[in-house]
Amino acid sequence: MPDDLQHMATQTGGCTSSETMEQAAREAGQGDLLDRFKADYPVGPHDKPQSMCPAFGSLRVGLRMKRVATVLSGSACCVYGLSFVSHFYGARRSVGYVPFDSETLVTGKLFEDIREAVHKLADPEKLDAIVVTNLCVPTASGVPLRLLPDEIDGVRIIGIDVPGFGIPTHAEAKDVLAGAMLSYARKEAAAGPVPAPQAGKSDRPTVTLLGEMFPADPLGIAGMLAPLGLAAGPVVPCREWREFYSALDCGAVAAIHPFYTAAVREFQAAGRPVLGSAPVGVDGTAAWLASVGDAFGIPAATVAEAQNQFLPAIKGALSGSRIDGTVTVSGYEGSELLVARLLIESGADVPYVGTACPKTPWSAPDLDWLEARGVTVKFRASLEDDLAVVEGLRPDLAIGTTPVVQKAKELGIPSLYFTNLISARPLMGPAGAGSLQQVVNAAIGNKDRMGRMRGFFEGVGHGDTSGVWEDAPNLRPDFRAAHRKKLDKRARAAKAEQMI
Ligand code: SF4
Repeated sequence: MPDDLQHMATQTGGCTSSETMEQAAREAGQGDLLDRFKADYPVGPHDKPQSMCPAFGSLRVGLRMKRVATVLSGSACCVYGLSFVSHFYGARRSVGYVPFDSETLVTGKLFEDIREAVHKLADPEKLDAIVVTNLCVPTASGVPLRLLPDEIDGVRIIGIDVPGFGIPTHAEAKDVLAGAMLSYARKEAAAGPVPAPQAGKSDRPTVTLLGEMFPADPLGIAGMLAPLGLAAGPVVPCREWREFYSALDCGAVAAIHPFYTAAVREFQAAGRPVLGSAPVGVDGTAAWLASVGDAFGIPAATVAEAQNQFLPAIKGALSGSRIDGTVTVSGYEGSELLVARLLIESGADVPYVGTACPKTPWSAPDLDWLEARGVTVKFRASLEDDLAVVEGLRPDLAIGTTPVVQKAKELGIPSLYFTNLISARPLMGPAGAGSLQQVVNAAIGNKDRMGRMRGFFEGVGHGDTSGVWEDAPNLRPDFRAAHRKKLDKRARAAKAEQMI
């Protein structure tokens, strides 16, 4: 998996030595930016990126938008990795790159090169906006993207810094770009009339949906809003620039994914209320419809009617195929708590949920619900936390990131990738209610097979048995013992020297 490569990159000293880079960035005048990141994306207990290179989040958001070009400014190895991963995940266009060397970085020529590149690229016939992203090294060096023009011939220029030492996860990097675009669009809307979205505008009040979801989920949510006399607005991050205007022009915002702090700030500045949690399962859907009703001042009887319309179908789907087993959940998408709620309502025992994202006010209803059922919820969970849980609890199924799944496989525990297999399903309302059972039950049913596979591969891939061998490895335990003696002797001598 390419995200393994990026993940490894961010875990080793070879990628971002956060303290040195942060210090350099502060010395280069980026203190305010880093302080804002610290407030928006609080870290702890760990402060190193635990997902793939964070910039992938914002890069992907830009690449998915119509008539938007993306330009990266960073080390060639980072740009190589990011463009590789983005094309692995189906990007349909090129990633722009302004290369640099030590000289162009320190003399300020890199900034001039970036400015020249955006001027060349800014064709209003083809583009609504250009996103320029400073990766770690240009951010640490203070390359001042804020000095780029706001627009060139009507093409908006959005400059963002997305350093691994300031943005903890790729999920939050999506927020950096979504927040920057909303801020730009909000100022445009405040300054005068703006174009309506190409798909037209609903005549009913709308609820903007915050967070990337499985494509059927916004439709399902729209169906549940209809009896309340409401419509679903755009999903932020948006797919075209004009959608940002209608996203801002909503009656309320549903923070389906709870980590969009910068985006929420823009909605709040526009005077929009923001609702937490999401319509998942019976309890989640009932509570969410009630909070939407409150936000719009809809009579309780109308809300109850809508609840009665959908909750029996959700109950039916949940009871259709129960999950019998212990499941641990970990991920970095921001929807981990919602998935855990759905699993529990489907019958699973979920002792632990780990998310790389931080705790925010919009995850509070899900946190309360889960804690009331004895679930340990760990925000900013580290890979070590997730692995320790799988090793200690030995669940019937581990849902997690690539390295968690790898560990579970080594232990003979059935496992599912959160990103590829859980996020790629509907979760909301009646359509989401039955969607997890099948894949989860099939995976749990593989336990014996996993055990047989583990037995078959026992001892392979570790120590002397890792790597590619043409013949059986020549182990020579006598050499190893002699070498061990030498090392011990050296250690004793070093200790004796210290004591003198
Ligand atoms: S941009 Fe930063 S976090 Fe991303 S791969 Fe490069 S050094 Fe690592």
